[in-house]
Amino acid sequence: MSGGSTDDILIVGGGLAGLALAGYLARQGREPTIVEQADEWRASGYGIGLWEDGLAVLDELGCLESARKHAADPDQFEIRATGGEVLTQTIVPADQTLLLAIYRADLHAALREAVPTDWIRMGTEPRDVEERADGVTVTFEDGTTEAFDLVVGADGVHSTVREQCFANWKKRDLDTYVWSLWAPQDTDIGSDMVSVWGPGSEGFVARVGDRVGFNLAARLETPPAPPGREELRAHAEAIDWRLPAILDSTDDEPFFDRVREISCASWNTDRVVLVGDAAHAVHPISGMGASLALQDARVLAQELATASPGGVSDALAQFETRRRPAVTRVQRQARIEAAVTFLESAPLRRVRNAVTRHTPLFEWFVRRQAIDR
Ligand SMILES: Cc1cc2nc3c(=O)[nH]c(=O)nc-3n(C[C@H](O)[C@H](O)[C@H](O)COP(=O)(O)OP(=O)(O)OC[C@H]3O[C@@H](n4cnc5c(N)ncnc54)[C@H](O)[C@@H]3O)c2cc1C
Repeated sequence: MSGGSTDDILIVGGGLAGLALAGYLARQGREPTIVEQADEWRASGYGIGLWEDGLAVLDELGCLESARKHAADPDQFEIRATGGEVLTQTIVPADQTLLLAIYRADLHAALREAVPTDWIRMGTEPRDVEERADGVTVTFEDGTTEAFDLVVGADGVHSTVREQCFANWKKRDLDTYVWSLWAPQDTDIGSDMVSVWGPGSEGFVARVGDRVGFNLAARLETPPAPPGREELRAHAEAIDWRLPAILDSTDDEPFFDRVREISCASWNTDRVVLVGDAAHAVHPISGMGASLALQDARVLAQELATASPGGVSDALAQFETRRRPAVTRVQRQARIEAAVTFLESAPLRRVRNAVTRHTPLFEWFVRRQAIDR
């Protein structure tokens, strides 16, 4: 395969994968350019569960302690049925961390500590990305053009790099929609993390840093219009337990989005590579998208560090070979998890609840997820 140098690297997207990659490259003495579409970092969004794989990356980048200051280290998980009956409970010994629950903005701020601010060009995005034999020419929205040795698409589920440089990919708009908002710290949720299975829906509440995160996801035939609090309240009432009261305890404006899944036949060309959600967005029910994105950054940086002169395309191919099996497994598990969680049929939900109540299946799943590589 052909190749070339990797001196000038452009990372499109200053999200979790983009910043982590820049952090690793900084440690190798490289100075990538990062372009970020947003004009400024927004302190909004949802809570993220980071598992061992993601935590290992924060640790390597020296950001773990900073992230921990804003995160919760849950010791108890519960699954409840509609109305609130406890189906299963997982207890984690206090001296073990299974995952950290952290506000995405706090995780992002911790990762920013690994990257010099002046490497990031805010309010900038590519308009055209053209790959040539000896490099990639990028034309930005302001009309300026620059040449790079390598372009990394870390630009999330709606990736421009993917659209410009890759042909064989699929964006699946799932029939599932998610609301996310924040409730006060003193909200009583009875545990550290609770998932309540409703009819074709799931309510999820968790202690996240100094407040309580509340997500509600529901399968719907048509997109809710408008997707405001009234619609959210109807689903919270259908799931019941404490969810309507938790919703009433906060004026927070919900984040709302449709769930999407990305699959790409290939994540790399000779000089362009996709990482994180741009390559393989996974259903958020898995709670694994961020951990996958951070591990992508780690493995890509490792491959670039050991690439022979002229071997960039081989390094990109090797990155994909190493990451593809874990991503495929997580996407498959997420589909199964979504099918089980968002069941609509009442008889099937009764069977599922009985299995969850009487077997250690869920606990086994949680512990396996913690070490999924
Ligand atoms: C409600 C919800 C709950 C979730 N919960 C979890 C969880 O518990 N655990 C977990 O691991 N994951 C979770 N996820 C998924 C997780 O947030 C993503 O998988 C993760 O953020 C992916 O990181 P990324 O860096 O690939 O993309 P992103 O974090 O989306 O970052 C992409 C960046 O690129 C920028 N960008 C986009 N387009 C351009 C462009 N054209 N030019 C320049 N910049 C651009 C964006 O502004 C953004 O800064 C959840 C997602 C949702 C929606």
